[in-house]
Amino acid sequence: MRKIKLVSVLLAVLLTLGGILYLYSSVKVGIEIPPSASLLAKKESIPLKVEVDPNLPLLKLEIFLIQGTHKVVLYSGKPQNGLFNFEIDTAKAGLKDGKAQIVAKLLFPWGGEKTVYRKEVTIDGTPPSVDVVHQPHRLVVGEPGVLIVKSSEDTDQIFISLGEAKFPLLKVGDNIYKTIFTAPLFLLQNPERFYIVAIDKAGNVTRKFLPVAVKVKKFRKVKINLTDPILERIVLKYFDDTENALQKFKVINEQFREEDHKKLVEICRNSNGIFYPVGAFKQLPGSKPTAYFGDYRTYYYKGEVVSQSVHKGLDLAKYRHAPVVAANDGKVSFVGRLKIYGKVILIDHGFGIFTLYAHLNDFTVKEGDRVKKGDIIGYTDTTGLALGDHLHFGILAWGYATNPLFFFDKKYLNYNLYPYIGSSD
Ligand SMILES: [Zn+2]
Repeated sequence: MRKIKLVSVLLAVLLTLGGILYLYSSVKVGIEIPPSASLLAKKESIPLKVEVDPNLPLLKLEIFLIQGTHKVVLYSGKPQNGLFNFEIDTAKAGLKDGKAQIVAKLLFPWGGEKTVYRKEVTIDGTPPSVDVVHQPHRLVVGEPGVLIVKSSEDTDQIFISLGEAKFPLLKVGDNIYKTIFTAPLFLLQNPERFYIVAIDKAGNVTRKFLPVAVKVKKFRKVKINLTDPILERIVLKYFDDTENALQKFKVINEQFREEDHKKLVEICRNSNGIFYPVGAFKQLPGSKPTAYFGDYRTYYYKGEVVSQSVHKGLDLAKYRHAPVVAANDGKVSFVGRLKIYGKVILIDHGFGIFTLYAHLNDFTVKEGDRVKKGDIIGYTDTTGLALGDHLHFGILAWGYATNPLFFFDKKYLNYNLYPYIGSSD
């Protein structure tokens, strides 16, 4: 009787143990690491998704990075379901550039263990180093300049950073990058410094000061008197009535202008890595400039200053609905309507240089068209914030206005720009 009892107890114990063993050994663990985490930078955040039965007592999960005999524990404890971010400084953790593995193990209460995840990763904790091959040492506000750099490794992103502005560099050879940038008009209000920012594929960031002295040129000051008829004509272009005309004018002249600027920067974010122009850019033939780049406009109403703006191009007057020609070879990147600029065409000339034709009446080209210098692309008008028929002509570097006069000057281009960007005539 006693023997039978003992046997059944033993059997029960064995069965329970077997059950527990079975339960633990069949536990399913799901671990997911996105493909982006296969290259680890110096400072890295590794997102990890864990799915494991959390109800098994005493079960322990260990996740670590292993390189040779060096082991860095990322997590050690009771398995928990969810998405975890493991922050690691690979250099501080003693990991060297090269291959490593992310390994996850389940540790059982009786000392056994089971590898449930293994992933090969590459550690790259070294930020790219950047050498300047060519740069302008001094730029007048609105002047274009070429920057050529060589980086120590392939980059994921490389650009010039200047306050709010970003001038991307385009790859032209093995680790060689080029761009055309400018000292934008906003530097007159907010002096900023130029930096080259390079980010490698692992995400390591290098930020290097680019010493360019910015020379401030005095621009024209222009007084504009807003009479009631003028104010009404402008306001009625945008609103249904002229109630609070002055306030509405401020919205048009300030808010809409800023919106157009943002839209232009967005359109100009992508530029060709081919430089199309040949020779000097062409001013609209037979036209007369009526406003210049940098004109500082102060608007008066009944003797009081009510608004201000800075002119970002050349106003060229000819005759009503005069044909507008492409200033140089390029590719049409935008045809459409903006607020201040009305109907516009943007031509991409490569390496960030775009020409802008505004206040147009009609277009004879469409996005994607290749154009040659002198080709008719549209006709002048007064669309947008324009009272008299004229062409607003702008030359932008990645959306930031440059002074077109530099681009009309063949000697200037052949000395300062074309030898470095790769065009000549
Ligand atoms: Zn204008």
